[in-house]
Amino acid sequence: MRIQRQILKESNLRSTPSRSKILGLFLHNPHALSYSDIEKEVAPSFDRVTVYRTLKSFLDKGIIHKILDDSGGLKYGLCSDHCTNTEHQHDHVHFKCTQCGQTSCLDEVEIPAFDLPGGYKIEEVNLLIQGTCPSCR
Ligand SMILES: [Zn+2]
Ligand SMILES: [Zn+2]
Ligand SMILES: [Zn+2]
Repeated sequence: MRIQRQILKESNLRSTPSRSKILGLFLHNPHALSYSDIEKEVAPSFDRVTVYRTLKSFLDKGIIHKILDDSGGLKYGLCSDHCTNTEHQHDHVHFKCTQCGQTSCLDEVEIPAFDLPGGYKIEEVNLLIQGTCPSCR
């Protein structure tokens, strides 16, 4: 609980039961979490609106980031220290295991630089690699 409180404090967020609880889920899970993963863990203590608001405040403050899935689904991953309340900075790839369905941030694997034709300007790159994770090999 101490780490949660510290992260919330650094992000200028008041510590509330829902924020502590949901942040704890991210800290103790090595994989990205979908909305339903989170809801499963916190229901019925927190309702849908509370979960959405909590996730939104984490996204705004640079605590978590969105991860797009191959199926158009959305997951959330914990941000590294470089993200702030004004800017997310991500240059890592995401890996989805086709066996267990878990998605992970590979923080140590950087997205390569892309050479785009004239006139195109990159704002954001989402790179999802699919394959088999170490626990499923
Ligand atoms: Zn971020
Ligand atoms: Zn796996
Ligand atoms: Zn990530």
